[in-house]
Amino acid sequence: MSNDLDIIKKLENKLGRNLQNRCKLNDMEQVIELLLHNLNLQEVPLEIIQLKKLQILDLNDNQLSEVPIEISRLQNLQELDLEFNNLNTYPMEMSQLKSLQFLNLSRNHLSEWYVETSKLKKLQFLDLSSNFLNVLPIDLVELGLEIYWEQDYSKNSGIFLENNPFKTPPPEIIKQGKAAIIEYYNALKNDKTTKEQVIIVASKIRTELQIPPAQVIIGQSLNESKLILIGDGGAGKTSLMKRLLGQDFNPQESQTHGININTLSFKYNDSNVKFYCWDFGGQQIMHATHQFFLSKRSLYLLVLDSRRETEVEYWLKHIQTFAENAPVIIVINKIDENPHFDLPQQRQLKQRYPNIKYIARISCKTQQGLNELKQAVENIVPNIELLNTIFPATWFKVKTAITEQAQKTNFASYENFVDICQANGITKESEQNTLINFLHDLGLILHFQDRWLRETNVINPQWITEAVYTIINAPQLAGHGKLHREQLKNLLDNEIYPERKHDYILELMRKFELCYVLNDNEYLLPDLFPNQEPDFDFDDEEALHFILEYDFLPKSIFTRFIVRMHQHIVNNTYWRNGILLCDSNSQALIETIPNQKCLILQITGQQKREYLTILLFIIKDINRSFNQLKITEKIGLPDNPQITVNYSYLQKLAQNGQTNYLPPENPEKSYKISDLLGIVASPARSESEVMQMLQKILNIIKSQDIKEEKDLLNHVNEVVKLNPGLFGVSIDVNALIKKLWRKEKT
Ligand code: GDP
Ligand code: MG
Repeated sequence: MSNDLDIIKKLENKLGRNLQNRCKLNDMEQVIELLLHNLNLQEVPLEIIQLKKLQILDLNDNQLSEVPIEISRLQNLQELDLEFNNLNTYPMEMSQLKSLQFLNLSRNHLSEWYVETSKLKKLQFLDLSSNFLNVLPIDLVELGLEIYWEQDYSKNSGIFLENNPFKTPPPEIIKQGKAAIIEYYNALKNDKTTKEQVIIVASKIRTELQIPPAQVIIGQSLNESKLILIGDGGAGKTSLMKRLLGQDFNPQESQTHGININTLSFKYNDSNVKFYCWDFGGQQIMHATHQFFLSKRSLYLLVLDSRRETEVEYWLKHIQTFAENAPVIIVINKIDENPHFDLPQQRQLKQRYPNIKYIARISCKTQQGLNELKQAVENIVPNIELLNTIFPATWFKVKTAITEQAQKTNFASYENFVDICQANGITKESEQNTLINFLHDLGLILHFQDRWLRETNVINPQWITEAVYTIINAPQLAGHGKLHREQLKNLLDNEIYPERKHDYILELMRKFELCYVLNDNEYLLPDLFPNQEPDFDFDDEEALHFILEYDFLPKSIFTRFIVRMHQHIVNNTYWRNGILLCDSNSQALIETIPNQKCLILQITGQQKREYLTILLFIIKDINRSFNQLKITEKIGLPDNPQITVNYSYLQKLAQNGQTNYLPPENPEKSYKISDLLGIVASPARSESEVMQMLQKILNIIKSQDIKEEKDLLNHVNEVVKLNPGLFGVSIDVNALIKKLWRKEKT
């Protein structure tokens, strides 16, 4: 019998690689760990199977397209890492890996999960993220592990599912966690009209009866979706919507205020498909309300006026930050006036934004190109996720009832929702909860759990958009942004917006960080602050300069920053693009230069580095709510802040043992890298210093309704996770937060 070392020798010969550093032996010279990641392996070398004591097998980042059945003989295997391969299948026999605790199959091409999971009694971690799974089998849910959307190995155990095209249940349900998934499946189970059983236990039945993979559609699919028209004012969005609805062209189309929502119906595969077309007013200020409604589950028509050089990328990024990879059709309009115009560099653009599904050239006036555009919309239909979302029948009925109600009224109480649920057989509170969150995530209703918001559901989104739009555009508020609660009586139509709903509207605006409360009845809206910078003193002699350069700077970031930091504002020193803040003995001047897409922070005082950390924390926390922002951080040279240096570049230089930096702009003078880095970060912070910073951050974010320790912990952790080292390297931030929280409570 060959011993393990002979096997490794054979493997080394076969792979032409030295594996010494890649395996670990026990005292008996048996291999217990083998790391074969990133070796370009096309298949799993069968020699491995003879390593009977193997506990850890890492095959991450290879070219494997299958896993041999024999792998099931590794009865001691505890960790199997198959991430980032080409697997579209795997052997059923994996269920015989009795010792398996950690299984990573993420970033493969799996479209089904059919292992008898229940046999994997020791399984703690299962990562299936970034595959092509449509159905989440119930036996995975019944495994006893919590289910998470986002991959996060800092959790003790769990199943991770992000980035899969789930239909059953839809991602919105999976994101709500295990309890919601079970509610969803129960609702399907009780659904007499469907063959849910087949599907739900599909994996098990298939294994036992060898039924071929089920093409399962259960429940009812929604057959409706949102089509969002977006683009500069005057591009022709309203004209296009009218054309799509079969209406006439109006050469004097008036500007859209707020939004128009219309229904567009057509036949697709024998079923009636409905699109709610949202036509947003193109004014800059409307961007503030986009965040309520721009969702991933929509089709976007980006309308461009062929006569103007519009910033196509601005709009594409705008869509991306709110709706990730939702499909977009670019519509170049008014080609009657400019027949030769075409979008330059389309190939590159499509490469950078793979969500561009089609580029159309049309004229709303002459209808040229309109049929092709309609065809393109219909072709995309099967890809629009919302259309295919599967609802249990009872949920569907509730949804329909609410849609009907929305014809008559704009908002309804939570009680009313509960009544509708009960009338349709949904009696459990937890299921009602799951459903309302689902409807909210789909953009069919606005519902928030916050204390002041949870009693009202907005069932007609136009209602809230128009209210916000009217307030933000009110001439009475322009140039100062001060709003007294009483003013809403004059600003808003009292029939549509009864006084008892004013608090709801203001609270919602506060939640979306469009305004903050000055005192009980007074609010400030930073979007309407004066353009002119006021007079103020700021000693920039000693200031540290820190710059965040965005590839795309969403307009609301600075507004939201002001809203969060308002308690630190010095003597009303604010304007549209800047604020002066102060905290104990530090002062910070923060400005945004919109056309340069950057935020500039200048900070003075004894604790400027600490204040910088706090401010960066808040900014990074806001950045988190936008997808795919790219940000470069720079520092200004102390004696010549006009010259800036890329911060992470400096860190890299330091890591590589460099000690000096010569700015290319002024190579006469060299700077010590440690000095430069020391401007913004102190190398060793004590626990008590970090505690102090956390305390201040806590005070700032507390205003956002964070009550529970775990909420706060999560919140801070999320930011820290993305920015390790923000507070210094050797500090256990987690432990500190816990300590802090205990102190708060006593
Ligand atoms: P929106 O602000 O994006 O909704 O744009 P509108 O639909 O209101 O159109 C702005 C102006 O452009 C109106 O005066 C329209 O009549 C005009 N317009 C829209 N589409 C076309 C077109 O294809 N050709 C021409 N010549 N004018 C158009
Ligand atoms: Mg319009």
